[in-house]
Amino acid sequence: MRTLAPWFSRPPALLALLLSAPLSAQQDLEVIPVQGNVYMLQTAAAGGNVGVLPGPDGILVVDDQVPNLAEAVLRGIRRISDEPIRFVINTHVHIDHIGGNQLMARQGATIVAQENVHRRMLTRLRIPRGGGRFMPQPAEAARPMVTFDRQATFRLNGEEVQVFHVPPAHTDGDAFVYFVDSDVLHTGDVFRTNMYPIIDVYNGGTMQGLIDATQLAVDLAGPNTKVIPGHGFGFTDRDGLLEVLEMITTVRDRVRDMVGEGLWLDEVLEAGPTSDYDARWRGTESWNERDLIPIIYAEVGGAAETIRAN
Ligand SMILES: [Zn+2]
Repeated sequence: MRTLAPWFSRPPALLALLLSAPLSAQQDLEVIPVQGNVYMLQTAAAGGNVGVLPGPDGILVVDDQVPNLAEAVLRGIRRISDEPIRFVINTHVHIDHIGGNQLMARQGATIVAQENVHRRMLTRLRIPRGGGRFMPQPAEAARPMVTFDRQATFRLNGEEVQVFHVPPAHTDGDAFVYFVDSDVLHTGDVFRTNMYPIIDVYNGGTMQGLIDATQLAVDLAGPNTKVIPGHGFGFTDRDGLLEVLEMITTVRDRVRDMVGEGLWLDEVLEAGPTSDYDARWRGTESWNERDLIPIIYAEVGGAAETIRAN
């Protein structure tokens, strides 16, 4: 009976693990008070950082994680407040920021996003990793019920919340969410503190837009502003933004200079324009400098051929 062997020969504990729901569905998110009335929900394991503004007018949420952490997002919100969830703002279209939309909509929340986020949801999604891998189209209930072009302002719970479209950076639908009274900025994935920025060319992202949008965040931030990154532990501030702005601008300038000298992409990669930053920013196997540099190279006018003809 060889055909049964691989499955039934596994140790019982492992079999139970394989048959159970993903562990992450059981996991709780950490609730972190940021400043004023704003909180963030975070997990080390996966997904984007969630912003939460509770209050008597109803809760406003910024991004809602991957689908299998949607229940964990809801539990995290409920540890902060039992008021109705009124609005969810998506900072962009990626699945680790919209994954709880359907569950939030079922709680009565209105999903809000920039128009390009909605437009991208009218077909299959793509993600920047894995060479632009396709993902299923989000269900209609997961798509924004309200969209905006340039900006939208929310006034609730004694807070003014400014949501505005930034230059095409991580994607072409990126929005910043600024809580004016609490002085907290949620940047979405335009800004992250755990690795090199992802420029999602499949969803309209650009390096120049990333620099411009990061500069916008620096200009907006004051000495007391707290900044929630799209990914990365905890929150940061204007200095955290400046560190990344300096890094991305320097790397872009180096690649541009190398293109100006006529280097081919393989020569640029060999020259290591990020080498002094790699220890801090390299990140993961699925996104590192070898993913970022070719995007910059193409954008600053590098030769279309990626490998030099020998
Ligand atoms: Zn993203």
